[in-house]
Amino acid sequence: MATKFSVPRGTSDVLPKDAFKWEYVEKVFRQVAKNFGYQEIITPIFEYAEVFERSVGDATDIIQKEMYRFSDKKDRVFALRPEGTAPVMRSFIENNLGKDGNIVKLFYIGPMFRYDRPQAGRSRQFSQYGLECLGTSHPYYDAETIAVYYTYLKALGLKNYDVEVNTIGCPDCSVAHNKALQEYFKGFFDGLCPDCQSRLEKNPKRLLDCKVEKCLQFHPSAPSMLDYLDEKCKTHFDQVLKYLDILNVTYVVNPKIVRGLDYYTQTAFEFVNHNLGSQNALGGGGRYDGLVQQMGGKDTPGVGFAGGISRLLLSLEQEGLYQGENPHPKYYIVSLGEDLAQKAIELLTFLRNNNVYAEFDLAKTTLKAQMKNADRLQAEHCIILGEDEIKSGMLTLKNMTTGEQTTLPIEKVNELINL
Ligand code: AMP
Repeated sequence: MATKFSVPRGTSDVLPKDAFKWEYVEKVFRQVAKNFGYQEIITPIFEYAEVFERSVGDATDIIQKEMYRFSDKKDRVFALRPEGTAPVMRSFIENNLGKDGNIVKLFYIGPMFRYDRPQAGRSRQFSQYGLECLGTSHPYYDAETIAVYYTYLKALGLKNYDVEVNTIGCPDCSVAHNKALQEYFKGFFDGLCPDCQSRLEKNPKRLLDCKVEKCLQFHPSAPSMLDYLDEKCKTHFDQVLKYLDILNVTYVVNPKIVRGLDYYTQTAFEFVNHNLGSQNALGGGGRYDGLVQQMGGKDTPGVGFAGGISRLLLSLEQEGLYQGENPHPKYYIVSLGEDLAQKAIELLTFLRNNNVYAEFDLAKTTLKAQMKNADRLQAEHCIILGEDEIKSGMLTLKNMTTGEQTTLPIEKVNELINL
């Protein structure tokens, strides 16, 4: 017996009953991003592995454990992209997009890949929508980036989420905070999970991000970054909050937001839906002023975010919100017999060439079966094309909502396009 294939673990098919939802949330994202002046960028799904290693950070889970690395026939080492920012930076530098010194605003939508333990809200292939604002360190743009996300969720109607904002300072003011974190957590070393134990030396901030139950008890009293900010970072953060107020974004300051990628500096934020269980971040982002330079480009500040489509759809579902729909035929052509099939096909072709969704089914040979099919597809109208209609030169048009029947001279089929 032939083997039955299945999708790889951690991936799934998006079937027609759901694919329109993806189309809908992507369409709204494109529209909102464009309203804020963003343009779409499409980068390859795989990149040289170094693009991520030199940006996301060697000590991060993404690089250490989760990246799909592979070599091609010429032994070049590539990776399926685990996130969208590094490829956009690579493209920004390679194509010299910042050459005229203006702010560059880019958005993307597409699949990302992480070899992670699959669970609700976490898969190995997932899609992200995201954007990057490059070329300015003005705090207004940190706030505007958050406002794009906020406006997007508002446009979708989502209510059950919090905007959590923090600053992780700059590398300079992080030194003292990292030291304080190391001192603090060393006191509880034996009670920490293995990941936290190994991160304590290299990346102490990440301990604040740990979701393991036994580590959580140590978080409330841990030293807060807000007490270690230098003057520049403090002013920047205050300004971001001021602009958020002006932009009418409702937010809370959460000093525990640290983000899992090394390239962030200063502002860090997350959009959190507390009803989603352990994987409750709809998305997040922040400022990454050193990244472009770190990747070999000119010193260019940047700020951006990324969110996951599947968690967003789950949230829309939870709140019973509109998620788009599959279209219904405007016309369903009912015709009987081989002789009339040609006429039906001609009419279908005419309508479809004029951008009208029209359908029939040659395999359904009775009037009843065809009408039933029109109902199943929720067609708006049936066009009845029988012997009588051909003889009289008149089409019968049935409105499937009201049941009302009207006639239309065949030479006036043009009128069907805009009915
Ligand atoms: P990150 O790039 O890790 O900051 O993730 C940003 C957003 O992408 C998250 O808040 C999720 O909505 C989504 N996301 C990240 N990893 C996964 C995953 N493994 N499966 C599904 N969605 C994910």
